[in-house]
Amino acid sequence: MKPFGRPRGPFAFAIALTLAMACGRAKAPGGTTHATPDVLLVTIDTLRADRLGCYGYAAAHTPNLDALARRGARFAVAVAHAPLTAPSHASILTGVTPLGHGVRDNGAYVLPSSARTLAEDFRQAGYRTAAFVSGFPLKRRFGFDRGFDSYDDHLPRGKDARRTAYVERTADRTTDAALAWLDASGAAGETRKPLFAWVHYFDPHAPYEAPAEAMAGAASPYDGEIAFVDAQLGRLLQRLESRPQAPLVVLVTADHGESLGEHGEDTHGIFLYDATVRVPLIVAGPEVREGAVPETVARGIDVTPTLLDYAGLPARTTMGRSLRRAAAGERLADEPAYSESLHPQLQYGWAPLFAWRTAKHKLIEAPRPELYDLDVDAAEQKDAASRDPQRLEAMRRELSRVMTAATTPSAETAVDAETKERLAALGYVGSAGGAPPVRTGKDPKDGIGLVTRLGRNGMTVARTEPEKAIRELTALLREDPGMLVALRTRAVAFAAAGRHADAVRDLRELEKKGALSAEDAVVLGDNLRLGGHGKEASAVLEKTIRANPTFAQPLLSLAAVHVEERDLAAASAAYTKVLALEPDNPEALRGLGDLAVVQGDAAQAGARYARIVELDPTDVAALTKLGVVKVRTGAPAEAIQLLQRAVELDPKNAEALLYLAGALAASGRASEAVPVFERRLAVGPRSTMVLNGLGLTRLQLGDRGGAAAAFRESLKLDPRQPEIASTLRELGQP
Ligand SMILES: [Zn+2]
Repeated sequence: MKPFGRPRGPFAFAIALTLAMACGRAKAPGGTTHATPDVLLVTIDTLRADRLGCYGYAAAHTPNLDALARRGARFAVAVAHAPLTAPSHASILTGVTPLGHGVRDNGAYVLPSSARTLAEDFRQAGYRTAAFVSGFPLKRRFGFDRGFDSYDDHLPRGKDARRTAYVERTADRTTDAALAWLDASGAAGETRKPLFAWVHYFDPHAPYEAPAEAMAGAASPYDGEIAFVDAQLGRLLQRLESRPQAPLVVLVTADHGESLGEHGEDTHGIFLYDATVRVPLIVAGPEVREGAVPETVARGIDVTPTLLDYAGLPARTTMGRSLRRAAAGERLADEPAYSESLHPQLQYGWAPLFAWRTAKHKLIEAPRPELYDLDVDAAEQKDAASRDPQRLEAMRRELSRVMTAATTPSAETAVDAETKERLAALGYVGSAGGAPPVRTGKDPKDGIGLVTRLGRNGMTVARTEPEKAIRELTALLREDPGMLVALRTRAVAFAAAGRHADAVRDLRELEKKGALSAEDAVVLGDNLRLGGHGKEASAVLEKTIRANPTFAQPLLSLAAVHVEERDLAAASAAYTKVLALEPDNPEALRGLGDLAVVQGDAAQAGARYARIVELDPTDVAALTKLGVVKVRTGAPAEAIQLLQRAVELDPKNAEALLYLAGALAASGRASEAVPVFERRLAVGPRSTMVLNGLGLTRLQLGDRGGAAAAFRESLKLDPRQPEIASTLRELGQP
């Protein structure tokens, strides 16, 4: 069966007409022909529509989005197909719902090649295509890079101790990256080709920590994050719109919203209420009616056909439709929207949720289904299921029909035969594919309190307060042993507490349940290595690499095993494979730099660290190591600059302080070196190297008493230093 039928009846005519119009050159309002437009798609993660000024929020600081809405069209209601980053973006980028593309959760799924992306369409039509993403779920290994000439998913290491490294890039840096790419392609003379760019901002995602300037005047930290994105989007738009080239079509939307406590949910991912599935959708450009507020319900799947339409590219079969005529002021008949969350099933072992939404009503399919009359109950507080059983059943039948008709491709990451067998034995295979909805399991409404506890006392503190997290997660697992997410989070907490054997036990338990994801396998490998089981670690990681050939993380962990085994050639080979998968992966560059240091190849080491710093000027570890290389290769001026930056970013960086002091002293800047040596003594352990450096520098400045004091301390640490002892005697201080 086809996943979605060809349009019939009056729709066929409308589409044929749109096609005929689209095949000609787009007409500007004045009737003059203009060039093929450049197209910018902006997705803002975790952005509720009702937190923007243009959507009626009085406390908003969103002048750029509001201005875009004034000169473009703002869809009053736009619906996301999942409250999760990867599935929702997959729908935006392909024009099909998760039933059509098979990406049902973050991680563990790769967008299948059967789901064509709009970037592929644009590229085929001769567009330059570039993407700049800011969050881990959109890394290229999940398949979102398909069709893009350039896919920038560089996420800085970050220094939030609560989170894993490399999860997020802030909006200022994403805008910087997009502007730098525009500069470079302009310089290369590529601007004759039209441009399709996708820019994704992640800031409104929890934790909410906007820079101070965006927080000023914000009603909440969440609003501050939105204000920050708005300002950075403003910078991008100003630049794109000031160019003399082609006209520009801009479409801004979000992958999902944020519950902010509504219905008992803190963030997003479980429920399908409007707090998380209603998003903004604003489009601006030639032919858009200025200030229009179309009532036509917009959906994530409509984005692809809409943008192809504006660009004059041939329409192709999707599950969505072009909203171009609606944005020009025409009222289109509403089409229902499908939404789902399999997250409760896949992560908690509960029932999944499915929603069917018309312009007026929403059905949420659950063990206890819900029905809302959105006209009178926009906040979805009064379940009308028992009052309106006929409508409830009619909508359930419609939802069921759509779900059964779909042929959902398998988008789960490739698994090796052994894992597949084990999964099949446990009944997991196909559970996330086109199979009919699971109606059993706990209703997520009854489990939301557990989700909140898991989030607040488990996930957010697993790395910083591991013992507290372990207590809470153990209690949660006692209440609901099927909560796989609690088990994997507890493994992370055990690892943070240094309890590697306990972490391994939880992860092996997940493996037994057939639920060990590739990420989990990496954590398992790391804990086996840290617990002293290098061989077992290698076995787990090699298997994960075979099953996930495009995933860099297990290769990085395997390299760490090789480094511990002192097999530097194997480590180097693993890092090199990472760079083949992810050019500029900072951990691979760092690893190769460290290996070059061990092998005495300063030039190679310097080149690797320099590349990391180029990609992320705030990477303190790379700044420090590059500074040290510069000290050792006799380039003190460069070293001083690098190390000063490292110390500014991390004032307690003992290594950077030591080498900075040394480089200053060696450059004849003894008076500047002394206070840096003293700071180094204050932040790190005393060592003869620091004390002798301080003594010699004080001596240069004629401070004989101060020098003698430092040498005496040094001799206390290690009396076997005849030269220091004799210098001390020469100073007349035995
Ligand atoms: Zn998201």
